[in-house]
Amino acid sequence: MTDTWKYKGPIFDAHSHIGNIEDIDKLVEIGNSLGITTRIGIVHTKEGFEAAREHYPEGIVFAKYLSLGDIAQYNIQPIIDEISKLKDEGYSLAKTWFGPRWRDYYESVPGGFRLDDVRLEPIFQTLEDEDVPIITHVADPDTYYASHYQDSKKYGFKDDHLKQLENVLVRHPRVKFQIPHFGSQPEIHRLSNLSRWLDTFPNVYIDTASSRWMARELSKDTKKSRDFMMRYQDRVLFGTDVSSNETSRINYNGRVKAQRILWDTDVKNTPLPFTDPDTKDSGGTFINGLDLPLTVLRKLYWANGNRIYMT
Ligand SMILES: [Zn+2]
Repeated sequence: MTDTWKYKGPIFDAHSHIGNIEDIDKLVEIGNSLGITTRIGIVHTKEGFEAAREHYPEGIVFAKYLSLGDIAQYNIQPIIDEISKLKDEGYSLAKTWFGPRWRDYYESVPGGFRLDDVRLEPIFQTLEDEDVPIITHVADPDTYYASHYQDSKKYGFKDDHLKQLENVLVRHPRVKFQIPHFGSQPEIHRLSNLSRWLDTFPNVYIDTASSRWMARELSKDTKKSRDFMMRYQDRVLFGTDVSSNETSRINYNGRVKAQRILWDTDVKNTPLPFTDPDTKDSGGTFINGLDLPLTVLRKLYWANGNRIYMT
């Protein structure tokens, strides 16, 4: 399948999720058929992690999920311990997730919880001291705030969520941050703020996980999106957000195909190869390709991930 695209080399998937071992075999097998030879695997079960390490000693860079329940309570000591032993356990980086709906999953999250609360500072300091990169997800698509998160008292506002992360970035110029989903800012009106972040914080990288979010938003102004990718070509990592628990060939193919159309081609108005729940009642999601040069595609799909995590 890779020979139909402009870039034909190996792919580093900087954002995938691994659960049980039976599913991991499938993830690796389907990934390989799509050219994905190496991946960051965000670990969801201990058993899956141990088995994956044994079966795939190469090809998976493991990310450890830090305990959100503890973070929510500003209970930092267990987190610091987790970070300190993470490399010995075989992990290379850490992961946290603060999608606004984490308040649905952790009812104990205090109402005024903030990521930039000084009580959490020792966590970021430990990442810095131990030289552990972190994938940290904050905010969500604008579309979610307009639909699922209308209760802003409970969920908060997107600009504020981004600001909280920015305050952390200001304090920690030596921690490597991978901010997924284009820093949660692929919406065209947000690209200027994302540019500002990348200009201000050389330790920040973004990934392209969530094919439908990237395709939907970046297709809306191909000139601006392409200019952005050209300018920050060393800072963007390809990612699928594929989860081993829900891996089917159709799902995986669709996600990769959508991004290959977006990055590799110049086609116009191509329907997303799967349903986008955010636009299914308003006409659907269509992709306009950015037709990136091969030199940039090579960085996006391979060289950036390899440089940051494999050397
Ligand atoms: Zn993810």
